[in-house]
Amino acid sequence: MKITRISVFHKDLELEHPYWLSGGRLRFSTLDATFVRIDTDAGLAGWGEGTPWGHTYVPAHGPGIRAGIETMARFVIGLDPRRVLEIERAMDLALPGHLYAKAPIDMACWDIAGQAADLPIADLMGGASRRPAPIASSVGAKTVDETREVLDRYRSRGYVVHSVKIGGDPERDIARIRDVEAHRPPGERILYDVNRAWTRQQAIRVMKATEDLGVMFEQPGETLDDIAAIRQLHAAPVSIDESLVTLQDAARIARDGLAEVFGIKLNRVGGLTRAARMRDIALAHGIDMFVMATGGTVLADAEALHLAATIPDHNLLGVWACQDMLTADIAPGRGPRNADGHLHLPEAPGLGLHPDDDAIGPPVAVYEM
Ligand code: MG
Repeated sequence: MKITRISVFHKDLELEHPYWLSGGRLRFSTLDATFVRIDTDAGLAGWGEGTPWGHTYVPAHGPGIRAGIETMARFVIGLDPRRVLEIERAMDLALPGHLYAKAPIDMACWDIAGQAADLPIADLMGGASRRPAPIASSVGAKTVDETREVLDRYRSRGYVVHSVKIGGDPERDIARIRDVEAHRPPGERILYDVNRAWTRQQAIRVMKATEDLGVMFEQPGETLDDIAAIRQLHAAPVSIDESLVTLQDAARIARDGLAEVFGIKLNRVGGLTRAARMRDIALAHGIDMFVMATGGTVLADAEALHLAATIPDHNLLGVWACQDMLTADIAPGRGPRNADGHLHLPEAPGLGLHPDDDAIGPPVAVYEM
């Protein structure tokens, strides 16, 4: 089987409500999505998606994905898409780094491989859990009262895992954490996501002041060096997502004991092929995982769910459904959907769904053999 054509599509995805991170420092209202369709000489077609969470969140850029694909296309056309490791090496030869531009191609190749094997991707990767995966909510940076309201709204929809965005003024962060914990029903899992907003002294201040609560913080500093520097100065469990980009990052976090949880963002780490290696490092070191797209539609959520399904149930803390924050739906009624705060793995081969043609418009670029 050979790749004969790569078609690239661009769509701006509007968020239902504007969203703030880092105590209001970063505002998001539209996501720049790139979709990739890979055609083969066997008549199979696979789809990928790359949707960074805006341009200001981490080093990833919608136009950068499309430019990266333009650079890599001729290195990938003619290869067998089922040989994902060869595809990975070809992309690395064409364009070192730029992992987020490679993820949509990797995703489309896994989709084709799954269809060719007549298996869902997760089963092709070695076998999937069918336990519905709990979706983590995403509670933007707000006041104490607003935080409580948003959490209750999520709870009424069945959510049992929450990501509460903090990282503003340390005193306000402490007040919000204390209020959330005071109203937390038993059995709920809450992650306090700093999104790199704190300086080292701010991190120590909040993490020490909430030590009695035993709560977990995500990305409490800008870099792995920052997180390492304060590691001995607090007792809180830590999750790392934004600083988990390469396999070397994963190895360092595991070896140096910098975190108890990996937040694996599929687009950020370069797709399923690379993310699966991080999963194995995590499992080998007793590190639990959240798995998610960096953003995007049901297509991106489906990719993340396939990886999540290959993680033992008790090591998977949750997934995310960015699709619930968007106004547009590119595949109405298909793929994994929020059912009482959980996502169910699609049983169709490959990703399990493809977008509607009229939902994403004509391609903005086509590369052919
Ligand atoms: Mg996070």
